[in-house]
Amino acid sequence: MKYVSTRGRAANQSFTDILLEGLAADGGLAVPEQWPRITRPKLDAMRDLPYPRLAFEVMRFFADDFPGGELKAIAERTYTAEVFGTPEITPLRTLEDNFHLLACSNGPTLAFKDIAMQMLGNLFEHVLEKQGREINILGATSGDTGSSAEHALKGKRRVKVFMLSPHGRMSPFQRAQMYGLDEPNIFNLAVKGVFDDCQDMVKAVNADAGFKERHRLGAVNSINWARVVAQVVYYFKGYFAATRSNDEPASFAVPSGNFGNIFAGHVAKRMGLPIKRLVLATNENDVLDEFFRTGRYRPRKTAETHATSSPSMDISKASNFERFIWDMVDQDGEKVAWLWKQVDEKGGFDLSTDKAWEKIEEDSGFASGRSLHEDRIATIRQVKKDYGMVIDPHTADGVKIGNRIRERGTPMICIETALPAKFEATIVEALGERPPRPAGYEGIEDRPQRCDVIGTDVPALKEYLAARA
Ligand SMILES: *Cc1c(COP(=O)(O)O)cnc(C)c1O
Repeated sequence: MKYVSTRGRAANQSFTDILLEGLAADGGLAVPEQWPRITRPKLDAMRDLPYPRLAFEVMRFFADDFPGGELKAIAERTYTAEVFGTPEITPLRTLEDNFHLLACSNGPTLAFKDIAMQMLGNLFEHVLEKQGREINILGATSGDTGSSAEHALKGKRRVKVFMLSPHGRMSPFQRAQMYGLDEPNIFNLAVKGVFDDCQDMVKAVNADAGFKERHRLGAVNSINWARVVAQVVYYFKGYFAATRSNDEPASFAVPSGNFGNIFAGHVAKRMGLPIKRLVLATNENDVLDEFFRTGRYRPRKTAETHATSSPSMDISKASNFERFIWDMVDQDGEKVAWLWKQVDEKGGFDLSTDKAWEKIEEDSGFASGRSLHEDRIATIRQVKKDYGMVIDPHTADGVKIGNRIRERGTPMICIETALPAKFEATIVEALGERPPRPAGYEGIEDRPQRCDVIGTDVPALKEYLAARA
């Protein structure tokens, strides 16, 4: 399988080529030249596979330059009950008939990002070892992505992680998860500023191509293609668990931010998984809901992004969305380049009169909705009352919209993107009591923490990196 750029101008690359990279050379994102199609007999054979084997069978389509035995071994090493709590990895929990939660948040940082990130960490280590290379991951986080990356890359050979986070602005739990790590290859930099300052600093360092190359800087952000591919797997897992045969359609509801999770669902559908609806839920930051209702895409400015009680969805520009649009405009790179030029020059684009809109409305299966703080609170209460389960605020956004859009007779699978233990304050507001904590996470806030506090100046950051990277 060859990879091309969504903007049509970058050279064909292999999975291994794009594994360690961010943007394609022309500013677009890597996408496969064509979607692999799974035949019915193959789909039937996949139905009862254990998770690691299923991961291998799905990912091998996309990573065909990886020797099969190696990929299989990496999947087996990654998806274990020790790391994810159960051998099913993403068990299905039934709320009521045809209404389910897919528990994707039982990895080390209690958010679904671990599913892809743990695999990515092992893929990285393997490829770097083979190629005799080293890499220094430089990133900025507001909480979830950074800690998931650190827990996936800690102790790995040939990798160091330099993660910038806003000083004093993460939840005590998130802080403990990151700064509590005591590993020689993990460097936590607490920046005296906000998340945007952190992101700007990373951008500024990366803009210095010479420095970037000298210090072998890389990234593990949400546009990483291997992360998307690893997420495709649990759509298969969830579908098989919620249906009895591959004749039955099922729908998914997905709390969305950067459009990475739900795009993985789109990929699964394109591969032939019988997905009926992909229900996208946003919070108050509703750029994507507006698009799916109107055909107009108007990313917001950072200053117009609301800080909400589902903070991991507080995103104004959904990076993976470009991959979806590329697919909906018949994979026409010139057109994608033009559309994103409209975004830069005019602040957005309008597809409502384009033939792509028909495809999006009629064939894609996408539906959307927006869930607000009071919806989140009410949904957390309702799910506790009706089903005796405590869900986190992001999952609540998905459940709220999924419940509204579900149809009788078609299973609706809501993806649980984090455990409630990560967002105690909102759970206390909704239920008047603290959420349960999984074993081993009691009192993590009281354990020793380690980070280097820095200002927002880029030369100082470069000096820091030069001395350690
Ligand atoms: C990252 C994240 C999301 C958003 O996922 P995307 O792939 O960016 O759409 C939703 N919920 C939680 C808890 C997250 O950490």
